[in-house]
Amino acid sequence: MTLLSEKYRLSRSGVDFIDEAQLHGLLESPADAGKVREIIAKSMAKRPLAVEETAALLAATAPEQIEEIFAAARQLKRDVYGNRIVLFAPLYIGNECTNDCHYCAFRRSNREQIRRTLDEEDIRRQVLALEGKGHKRLILVFGEHPDYDARFMAECVRHVYSIHSGRGEIRRVNLNAAPLDHEGYATVKAANIGTYQIFQETYHHETYRKVHPPNTRKGDYLWRLDGVARAMEAECDDVGIGALFGLYDWRFEVLSLVTHALHLQKHYGVGPHTISFPRLRPAQGVHLDETYLVSDDDFKRLVAILRLSAPYTGLICTAREPPQLRREVMAFGVSQIDAGSRVELGGYTEAGDAQVVEREQFELGDIRSLDETMRELLVDGYIPSFCTSCYRLGRTGEQFMEFAIPGFIQNLCTPNALTTLMEYLIDYASPETRAAGERAIEIEIGKLPDGARKQQLLDRLNRIRNGERDLYV
Ligand code: SF4
Repeated sequence: MTLLSEKYRLSRSGVDFIDEAQLHGLLESPADAGKVREIIAKSMAKRPLAVEETAALLAATAPEQIEEIFAAARQLKRDVYGNRIVLFAPLYIGNECTNDCHYCAFRRSNREQIRRTLDEEDIRRQVLALEGKGHKRLILVFGEHPDYDARFMAECVRHVYSIHSGRGEIRRVNLNAAPLDHEGYATVKAANIGTYQIFQETYHHETYRKVHPPNTRKGDYLWRLDGVARAMEAECDDVGIGALFGLYDWRFEVLSLVTHALHLQKHYGVGPHTISFPRLRPAQGVHLDETYLVSDDDFKRLVAILRLSAPYTGLICTAREPPQLRREVMAFGVSQIDAGSRVELGGYTEAGDAQVVEREQFELGDIRSLDETMRELLVDGYIPSFCTSCYRLGRTGEQFMEFAIPGFIQNLCTPNALTTLMEYLIDYASPETRAAGERAIEIEIGKLPDGARKQQLLDRLNRIRNGERDLYV
């Protein structure tokens, strides 16, 4: 971990690095086709963009410029991530919440919402159901409530790791929860979490005040903004940031996410592990203000521009989005998706096929099964991956970047993706998905140059066919 700049350490109450006048000013700058090409060239060299450069891409609205940006994002995605898509599933642990966020069905003033906190046995049933489908990576989701303190979350994480069913196991547990203090992060870190995700929801101060009542914990803009910085200081060096698109001008939120990423890079030597861009969705008892809702076309632009702005940061598109749109944005930027997701409490065993809005935080756009999603990915030429090796081998935060930036990661990610895929095909896949998967593995192996690395992979795949599991580099 890079030593904190002394000035930053001393101003420990957190720094509000979101300069609205500067960001709004950048959004007024006129489009410049020549500049757009220069900036795209910088991205293609895999160099993160400055916020001014991201603003120039946002200003490019001519159809031919937008197509240039899409084409560049497609190429950069292939160059850095190849054709891998990392898969995970959310597991909601509790929807008690002391906050009152206007856009959320779990807000405290929503009396219609059925409140519940999963107990150990509930969690065991949910995890067994997820393992039984083939999942290996989970994100646990909590409301903000005194009952969900760091000790409780750490216990949940340890419990999830302890649940095994035949060949089923969860190998990486991420958290999406409220900001903690340094001690709290150290507590969850000790439970071996992967990424700690905190979304600012909106970086626009006035909008933030409007949708997060001041007498709630989440009403404290700076405490939240500084949340992932404290996590990094407590050695939780894989952090995820995000904004809830539709609360304010999407272009402003994109500039703010890039500003946040560069701020972490400057002070901690590494940016966020992931960026998420959920769009506002219908939710029980929520009246959606449609002023800033993001169209599908603008959503595609925001993904492509984030891809070009932060070449090495994972981009997550969740099942909030409908299948077809997810399919499109995977081509030019998205590197991680959830699949076979349920967002109801107990949803993996109790909700059946239909969504149960009175038990959900928001409505999902994609409720296809994991197997269906896997098959579509394979048919589209992607390699679905359940890889967890970097985090388990300590390649996190800055160490991860030391592998990612020079491109070594390709030598690790593809073989690991193929071994986790092979496990899935043998243990969980439907016959159609298995056939598509076997073909995809053959094609990938055919692309690899002959040599020790290819032979090692072939050996590992054979060992998996012969019953071994969890082989990775
Ligand atoms: S968004 Fe999160 S903090 Fe806000 S009410 Fe919903 S669960 Fe609570």
